[in-house]
Amino acid sequence: MRSDLRLEDLGKSKRVDAKLMNVKIPTELSDKIDRVARELGCSKTALIIALFNEGLDAAAEQLRGMKKPKAPVVPAGKRCSVSGCERQRTAKGLCQNHYQAARRRK
Ligand SMILES: [Zn+2]
Repeated sequence: MRSDLRLEDLGKSKRVDAKLMNVKIPTELSDKIDRVARELGCSKTALIIALFNEGLDAAAEQLRGMKKPKAPVVPAGKRCSVSGCERQRTAKGLCQNHYQAARRRK
């Protein structure tokens, strides 16, 4: 079983290390996978790995160039009173972290 298997590679056999992953899927989906694997003349495992890889390729393509979303900016009036801290205040003018730190100090 190849880890870089794609749909176009099905039927060509080459072995790599593998781990067993037990996943529950609906019976109807399992039957469809069975049917497609039989039609393509490959194992269900090979088909699933190829489908995963195709899906991962498509996802990577869609995510290309995307940046991680920025953390939301807390308005000045709702920020923690500790200078330099931009987290939202939750209690006594302090954010969760600074409030807990203040409590521990008492
Ligand atoms: Zn704070």
